[in-house]
Amino acid sequence: MLGVWLLAGLAVLALFLRLPGRIVLAMLGCLWLGLVLLLALLPGSAAARATGGTAPQWLVAGAVVALILLYRAALSRLRAKAPETPSLTKPVEDGPMSDEELDRYARHLVLREIGGAGQMRLRDARVLIVGAGGLGAPVCLYLAAAGVGRITLADDDTVSLSNLQRQVIFRSDQRGQPKARAAAQAMSALNRHVSVSPLLRRVTAEDVDLVSQHDLIIDGTDSFAARQAINRACVGAGVPLIAGAIAQWEGQVTLYDPARGGPCLGCLFPVAPAPGLAPACAEAGVVGALPGVIGSLMALEAIKHLTGAGEGLRGRMLIFDGLYGETRMVRTQARADCDVCGSKISH
Ligand SMILES: [Zn+2]
Repeated sequence: MLGVWLLAGLAVLALFLRLPGRIVLAMLGCLWLGLVLLLALLPGSAAARATGGTAPQWLVAGAVVALILLYRAALSRLRAKAPETPSLTKPVEDGPMSDEELDRYARHLVLREIGGAGQMRLRDARVLIVGAGGLGAPVCLYLAAAGVGRITLADDDTVSLSNLQRQVIFRSDQRGQPKARAAAQAMSALNRHVSVSPLLRRVTAEDVDLVSQHDLIIDGTDSFAARQAINRACVGAGVPLIAGAIAQWEGQVTLYDPARGGPCLGCLFPVAPAPGLAPACAEAGVVGALPGVIGSLMALEAIKHLTGAGEGLRGRMLIFDGLYGETRMVRTQARADCDVCGSKISH
């Protein structure tokens, strides 16, 4: 057993001296190799007997440790490829618009409500899109096309065949790929002037820091629990939230902004709907073009909000009935006793 004690002693000494990990590994590897050679070449010697075990046993033990280290190295390399926090420090472009940008955004520049100033506001904007699904697809494409400078896209799902009936940002050959990364590729291919950071995870109620790095959050997730979590993070950070929801033939879109006098999701829906009353698209079904309509409305509201054009949906909810081709506008109000934003409302 002397061999094990020697290895353990060397490891403790190296840790005590705070040697770099690679040097410790190299030292332990050399000692292990020496022990294996000793046992293999002089199996009957007193030193070999004191070491304990046989050469094959030490080889197997070494192989197991090597496999564990390789697995850990591969895992950390994968993690490094998927950055957990987006880099939103610098926009792609700086200074006045290039000739190419002037040409690309020409139809915005001639709009009185957007113009050059509005286009520059879009370029300077930081937007977090949560959910690269049916609603996220048009939001991602239209905001990238519109030149929103820095976009973070959060989604923990992968592209599947049943998504392609409505999630028009993906191609058939992208099945199995992380949605955030596949969508980010499409957005970068559409407009190289925007910087897209894919985030391969969900956004939780604790993500106040992530949310506060953005000017606007757009929620296209399809579960009430996810929407509640995003709403909490947005209220905590005081950042406005454009939220859309769809089921079967109907959809809705609104702007939650309690920091500027509007309600939050908790004001309108204080309790989660009973299971079965608000089923996700997977159970209830959804007509393919509906997320195109609602997602495009969300992108339109985002462009209005960022440029200051027109009047946003703060305190209003637009409801669209695709089966009968009708729209309705419903007034919404903040509730002072809302347990999410109640203490943060400013009137
Ligand atoms: Zn509220």
